[in-house]
Amino acid sequence: MPVSLPLGMQTRSEFPIFANNARMGVEGRTQPLVYLDSAVSAQKPRAVINAMSHFLEHDYGSVHRGAYGLSVRASQAYEEVRERVARFLGPSVSASRIIFTRGTTESLNMLASGLSQTIVDAGARIVVPLMEHHANMVPWQQAALRTECELAYIPMVGKAGEALCLDIEKARKLISRNTRVVSLAHVGNVLGQVNPVKEITALAKAVGALVVLDCAQSMTCFDDDPFSWGVDALAFSAHKLYGPSGIGVLALSPALLESLPPFLFGGGMISNVTLEGSEWAGGPARFEAGTPPIVEAVGLGAALTWLEEKGRKAIHAHSARLATRFREGLQSIKGIEVYSPETGEETIVAFRHEALHAHDLATLLDGSNVAMRAGHHCAWPLVRFLGVDALLRASFAAYSDVDDVDIALDAIKRARLG
Ligand code: PLP
Repeated sequence: MPVSLPLGMQTRSEFPIFANNARMGVEGRTQPLVYLDSAVSAQKPRAVINAMSHFLEHDYGSVHRGAYGLSVRASQAYEEVRERVARFLGPSVSASRIIFTRGTTESLNMLASGLSQTIVDAGARIVVPLMEHHANMVPWQQAALRTECELAYIPMVGKAGEALCLDIEKARKLISRNTRVVSLAHVGNVLGQVNPVKEITALAKAVGALVVLDCAQSMTCFDDDPFSWGVDALAFSAHKLYGPSGIGVLALSPALLESLPPFLFGGGMISNVTLEGSEWAGGPARFEAGTPPIVEAVGLGAALTWLEEKGRKAIHAHSARLATRFREGLQSIKGIEVYSPETGEETIVAFRHEALHAHDLATLLDGSNVAMRAGHHCAWPLVRFLGVDALLRASFAAYSDVDDVDIALDAIKRARLG
């Protein structure tokens, strides 16, 4: 088994993207790639790249469709990843509750669509925080339109840059007897705040509502089992976990697995088809119509192994330390406003300059080979609530290093002088 390298610069040597993307600066100095956009998608370690290309070169076949060796091997590999994901989520989670999807967005659409056919009706309420990513807002808006139910938003409270968080008092009022679903992110994708999931789950459970947890931003850092808190469904994407794009997970409670109607129809999700109608397969197969993301599943399995070797808690502590250093550095730059809260848990820092538009600053940073996202971050309602049209967001990961922080801060200072 390969030795697990310490986080930061040494771990970076496991990621070929960095060696392939250094640039020559104007003064003839090499500019390393400073990748501060891991919250949008993490880079991939060699372990993941190798696992996927090895599978393609030696074992590729379609799954659950052939009696021949390759198909049987591919099916075994695919199902082993389902078991791997279940172990990753916690000892109480069985593989039969793990559905492979294209990503968090598809997982949440699957839920919103299914629940609008079962437990959500006119007279019901769905509760979603205002700060959600569009992936955890628009599907619920559509569900509310279809069913004519109410969609209520949990507002934010506190001062931006210090302690902006979900307004738990308002949540207490909104989560009432007619609430059927509460859907929230574990960690916010714009500000990086860690939401009080246990508290919100307890409020939802007290009125018999289902809790859906968007773990797109939290799976790299937290190793708790959200089902042990009473959460009914959770979603995440492999590409933010150092794995490939094109695959994600929807994990369901046993009751939801039984009751949720299928989302896509076709091959693989049926137990019988006649000219008169069809019957659905049981378990996760009911939700996996069509040829699934087979190679991507192999990559996801390798990513989880890699992640667990590094340790999610260690990655969290490392990334949060770098975020704090970055934030402290920003505070000494005139005209910068920081929007993320300051609890020391955040691995994301959202900020802007009062005079330089976020998009312009991001373009100037790219001139120093610093990759940082600017814009609304797929969270228009939150960005509007903050009273801005765009923010920059620096996000830190296992391969981020103190050098990245210092280079990015220096580039921001120089952008202001230029
Ligand atoms: N939810 C959150 C909190 C996210 O950060 C993202 C992606 O940035 C998503 C959902 C959507 O994930 P995907 O694009 O992988 O479906």
